[in-house]
Amino acid sequence: MADLIYLDHAATTPLSQHALEAMMPYLTKEFGNPSSVYLPGRKARNALDGARETIAAVFGAHPDEIYFTSGGTESDNWAIRSAGCFSGTRNNLVVSAAEHHAVLHPAEAMHKNGCGLTVLGMDRFCRVSAAELRKAVGEETALVSIMAANNEVGTVMPVAELAETAHEAGALFHTDAVQAAGHIPLDVERLGVDMLSFSAHKFGGPKGVGGLYLRRSVRAGPGQLGGGQERGLRSGTENVAGVVGMAAALEESCRTLNENSVKISKLRSRLIRGILEIPGTVLTGDPEQRLPGSASFLFDGISGEALVLLLDQNGICASSGSACSAGALEPSHVLLAMGYSEDAARGSLRLSLGAENTEAEIDTVLKILPGIISRLRSE
Ligand SMILES: *Cc1c(COP(=O)(O)O)cnc(C)c1O
Repeated sequence: MADLIYLDHAATTPLSQHALEAMMPYLTKEFGNPSSVYLPGRKARNALDGARETIAAVFGAHPDEIYFTSGGTESDNWAIRSAGCFSGTRNNLVVSAAEHHAVLHPAEAMHKNGCGLTVLGMDRFCRVSAAELRKAVGEETALVSIMAANNEVGTVMPVAELAETAHEAGALFHTDAVQAAGHIPLDVERLGVDMLSFSAHKFGGPKGVGGLYLRRSVRAGPGQLGGGQERGLRSGTENVAGVVGMAAALEESCRTLNENSVKISKLRSRLIRGILEIPGTVLTGDPEQRLPGSASFLFDGISGEALVLLLDQNGICASSGSACSAGALEPSHVLLAMGYSEDAARGSLRLSLGAENTEAEIDTVLKILPGIISRLRSE
């Protein structure tokens, strides 16, 4: 069989060689616990400190504002749970309907426990507007959480404007930047966010490690209790190799960001142009304000799940929505909130590109896809 064509970078990315090499010593001979006082412990501690500085520099933050976690899901849960209901009279949480379940589910859990919850709608392009947010926030709002970029349709949100609107109402602002980090420039000062979640495996790092940026002035409760690591806020022996790999991958993807986003968005445009020639097809998400690698579509009269299976038989890895809800036959909550019908939303396909994709791969997809679509439509 020919090589696989991997077009699901929004689900996870291949580990970069640079990250792997940075990790290797900490998976082998440098095994010390960063909390130990002897030499191997100090070496591990230095590696963590270095990674924290690298990551802080990328986001324009101070190193002591970066907390390491087990990934995007944990960071989102921590942000929502800790800051959602902590400030006295403010007992309301505002999230967008476009959020990942790692934000929506903890928000719903808090709501069950008595916290107010407002879920903001989006427009057809999956954009949350500052005007809509302004109507939803008030003196009862503790926290607003709106993602930097959507994982299903790639829309990039106007985070700076949204954060400013939240602040005008005296609320804190968290952004789930798991899809955005390493793919578009993110600076916590320019964006004005108080909390920002990121995850290594979405930008060429290893799985199971991520982080939360927590502005110094924000007094969030601990994400996890125990031995007091991460300045008492996130206990647990640090994933030293994972953190080192994450820092190397983030530094690399930011160093190559301009060059890669030009290359990737060119491939993405070629893919979109070709796919829109198939009758009964629409592009979902914002045509302009979208992640460089993201292409997402609805095809009339077919099931996205069936389409993904047939693409797999042809060696093409794609997704019909978020990886977490793939397998569940529920139509995407994001597409529904964008105003598409359940029927329309079932025909969704997400292709997300990375720097290792080639024009030849795109052309192979464009050759194979029309036949698969007509075959599914004639069934
Ligand atoms: C992947 C993803 C997550 C979850 O991150 P994990 O590190 O896989 O737990 C959260 N939010 C968004 C937008 C994502 O794309």
